[in-house]
Amino acid sequence: MSVTAQLLRVFQVDKQIRSLQSSLRKAEGFLGEKQREIEQLDARRKTVEAQLKQQAAVAAEHEGEAKRIEARMEQLRGQMDNAQTNKEYQAFLVELNVMKTEKERAETAALEQMAKADDLRRELADLEAKRVEREQVRGVATKERDARHGEIAGQLAELKTELAECVAEVPKDTLVMFQRLIEVRGDEAMGPIDIVDRKRHEYHCGTCMMAVPMEAVNGLLSGGRLTKCSSCQCILYLTREDEERLRGGKK
Ligand SMILES: [Zn+2]
Repeated sequence: MSVTAQLLRVFQVDKQIRSLQSSLRKAEGFLGEKQREIEQLDARRKTVEAQLKQQAAVAAEHEGEAKRIEARMEQLRGQMDNAQTNKEYQAFLVELNVMKTEKERAETAALEQMAKADDLRRELADLEAKRVEREQVRGVATKERDARHGEIAGQLAELKTELAECVAEVPKDTLVMFQRLIEVRGDEAMGPIDIVDRKRHEYHCGTCMMAVPMEAVNGLLSGGRLTKCSSCQCILYLTREDEERLRGGKK
């Protein structure tokens, strides 16, 4: 087997491995996204609960104040009943009216706080509903991830064994160069040669579309010589069909 054919095997097996791993990462990514959404909902719930607590305390304060004022008003009414002079009575009446206004103010403030608390309670219910829904989605996402994991695990192990076998056949320094190329270029580490026009000897790199000289094609045809595209540096190869076509043409 020529070095190009060896590399092509490594490339194709490695590509399948990377594709499987990327589908697993996708499933994991989706699961992570759902997890983060739930965490955000929980964080918001904590904030709302704290606000609710604070609002309840403020409302209780206003209610307490209204009660204190009411007690004072009760006292004033008694004093008015026992007033000795009209002047004294009028003075109590003025104070009673002031107290009445203050009591109303405190009651209104308490009601406002309660309305705000109702809004927060509604938000809490809404958050809870959303959480239930997200949890369902997370459950589905977890199942999907586990299923993908199960599907892939066996296949991945087989491919890794196959890769180890393919790799063992490749000369060491060629392999080091090639692995670096895969790290940098991924699926474009190798590219097929496209036959543009056979009669006019026009060939392109299938990755970057730049012209490939006839000598490079001949080198591949004769002994599978290691050939890089001079433009994008991918390792060129001929598909089996194209190789047969070109050999057929040479008869
Ligand atoms: Zn190229």
